[in-house]
Amino acid sequence: MTAAAITLLDRLDGPTRRGLLRQCRALEHRSDTELAAEFLAEQPTHGARDADLVRRWAELATQFGARLELEATARQPLRVLERGNGIDQMRLAQFSSRPVPTVELYTDTLDLAEELTAELGWRDWFPAGSVRLAAEAHEQAHGQLQHPRAKRELKRALDATAGRIGRLRLLAHIVGADELVAHSYAQRVVPLGRSPLLLSAALGLAADLIRSN
Ligand SMILES: [Zn+2]
Repeated sequence: MTAAAITLLDRLDGPTRRGLLRQCRALEHRSDTELAAEFLAEQPTHGARDADLVRRWAELATQFGARLELEATARQPLRVLERGNGIDQMRLAQFSSRPVPTVELYTDTLDLAEELTAELGWRDWFPAGSVRLAAEAHEQAHGQLQHPRAKRELKRALDATAGRIGRLRLLAHIVGADELVAHSYAQRVVPLGRSPLLLSAALGLAADLIRSN
């Protein structure tokens, strides 16, 4: 851990910091499946949908990610650009395909993730350095999901109906499913003991508090 990382959680006063850790413990007790279903249910278009259906989509997207094999082009190491100011924007990493496939990593958010996992005793699930590897794998999966064939395969796996034209059934695009695929892929290949969704949720809480402090 770097000296800079220690100061991130240290910016919070004692009660705020203890409150954060309590909320993270509550997250820890939710299963990865529950976290995935909640993530999908929070997407704006899914609010009114049947909870069991959303949960089923979350499970299918997670399974799709767990068995995803990247094409050679998506497997190539991405160009990595390091950025700051991730906590202010609530960003850990982002992918852009042009001009060359690139992942931008926000190093302050990565530091915070490392600090949180150590503080919470989550090192067995997220070993030191694994968050960076997971972020890169996550963005590689997004790279693959930009290809039409991968998009079609994901739609087929989720098997959600958007509508019909005569006897032809149109498959729906499920907002947020690609995010679950990318998390699940990263969890498998790094590998991680829990879904990165757990760490993302904890990071979101911590970043909110640090920003407002
Ligand atoms: Zn993503």
